[in-house]
Amino acid sequence: MQGLLRMNSVPNFLSPDLTDSRLSRQASYKMLIDGKSVAAASGKEVQRHSPGHAGKLVGSWPEAGAEDLDRAIAAARRAFDQGPWPRMSSAERSRIMFRVAELILARVDEIALVESLEVGKPIAQARGEIEYCADLWSYAAGQVRGMHGDSHNDIGDNRLGLVLREPVGVVGIITPWNFPFIIASERVPWAIGAGCTVVLKPSELTSGTSILMAEIARDAGVPDGVFNVVTGYGAAAGQPLAEDPRTDMVAFTGSVRVGTQLAELAARQVKRVGLELGGKGPQIVFADADLDAAADGVAYGVYHNAGQCCISGSRLIVHEDVREALLERVLAISRKIPFGDPLNERTRFGPMISPAHLEKVDAYVRAGEAAGAELLTGGAAQSEKGLYYQPTVFQGVRPDMSIAREEIFGPVLSTLGFRHADEAVAMANDSEFGLSATVWSTNLENAMQTIRRVRAGRCWVNSVIDGTPELPVGGYKKSGLGRELGRYGFDEYSQIKGIHVTLGKPQRWFEG
Ligand code: NAD
Repeated sequence: MQGLLRMNSVPNFLSPDLTDSRLSRQASYKMLIDGKSVAAASGKEVQRHSPGHAGKLVGSWPEAGAEDLDRAIAAARRAFDQGPWPRMSSAERSRIMFRVAELILARVDEIALVESLEVGKPIAQARGEIEYCADLWSYAAGQVRGMHGDSHNDIGDNRLGLVLREPVGVVGIITPWNFPFIIASERVPWAIGAGCTVVLKPSELTSGTSILMAEIARDAGVPDGVFNVVTGYGAAAGQPLAEDPRTDMVAFTGSVRVGTQLAELAARQVKRVGLELGGKGPQIVFADADLDAAADGVAYGVYHNAGQCCISGSRLIVHEDVREALLERVLAISRKIPFGDPLNERTRFGPMISPAHLEKVDAYVRAGEAAGAELLTGGAAQSEKGLYYQPTVFQGVRPDMSIAREEIFGPVLSTLGFRHADEAVAMANDSEFGLSATVWSTNLENAMQTIRRVRAGRCWVNSVIDGTPELPVGGYKKSGLGRELGRYGFDEYSQIKGIHVTLGKPQRWFEG
């Protein structure tokens, strides 16, 4: 499976149990279009094999083409133009969305298992994520009733100004493979909560839980055509969402390459675009940081989800006075952290998503070595039983090296040193990305003065990869456009209309 990669073995690896009975689940899914479960018109299917279990088949879903997209977009258009959803009171929409949250909670174990098998997520982490998604749905359900426009009562005695908030229309939502249920739950409730209708296109690698989400929404009472899911590959099943004139917006999460392409396509129709793209999150550690907490956070920040996380803290920018002491602690964690079998309750991170991705991660590690960075631990694939890569730490990384600049999307930490706060901020901002950033310092004033100078949309002080539905997420620079969550998420999916009302007799323009 891992042909030419360097491979060695470390003792903290939890070898996958290929006889685990949960691996016999080979779910066969249908898409959900206009409230009905349907196969692709072509009859073709995409198969998914567990990346953590020697490629065992764990699921399959339809491979949608032009005809399927046409039906899904037509259904969403009809549901928006003629259906009850956009015209319902927010109280009615809210009630149904609360029900979705309840039904998700009732099925946490089942949904978590699917994500664990398809993505390779540790099962315990997956359960936490699905519970968090129920919270995202219920937060959005509650906020729906607080959405409103505005009025201007002081623009002249015979004038009244009204600002109406309206749904943007039909939204195509395209999601990646690393957090399928979370990324859809960060968008769909806000979009349909605003009164929009949706066609969701999940990654071809991990589509199972997006289909389950749409089925749950249907069971909760979301009307037919409001929440459709099409599955399949990007060009055939995703691109039409940006190209088709019947969609009003495309919300894309994924690579810079595809995001840019979709934004160009949408621009031709002046279509609204939301983009959440890559990152290269800096973690700035000052000399006065609590080093035990920072080391734990640095490890979590880079190894969570096997580093396949757009908000990974993969660039450690540490004060030279504590570099050695911090790295000692990070290395101790890296050598002890249980990684491997996603179905083992003890596992902290699992496999890479695909053989090609494993090779890409390894190529970055080799490039780091070739450029002169010092490999302190890891740096090799592990086990023939799955796509596992060891926890890997570099020091002596220069800002111009590819491992300091590019998104590796694997469990690979690049360490750079600094002496002055200005230098740390300059290094943090020396990136084409600006998705997330962390500062570790026990001096809150220093931490706040630093983080406010870092150009990133999602920031933490003395923590990392934290999240709550109340706070917005989104990127600066090439990390994206627009904001999700909080009240900002509703703005993303709303149109704003100004209405000038004349009270009394209008003033004549021309007295003839
Ligand atoms: P990707 O861009 O290859 O794919 C993302 C989605 O786009 C998939 O559903 C894919 O099928 C679809 N797609 C591919 N080509 C398309 C096309 N021509 N037209 C329309 N859709 C198309 O990304 P990926 O490999 O799935 O995910 C990894 C990337 O996503 C990383 O760069 C990561 O940083 C980014 N990401 C960002 C966030 C965020 O919130 N900012 C979250 C997760 C992942």
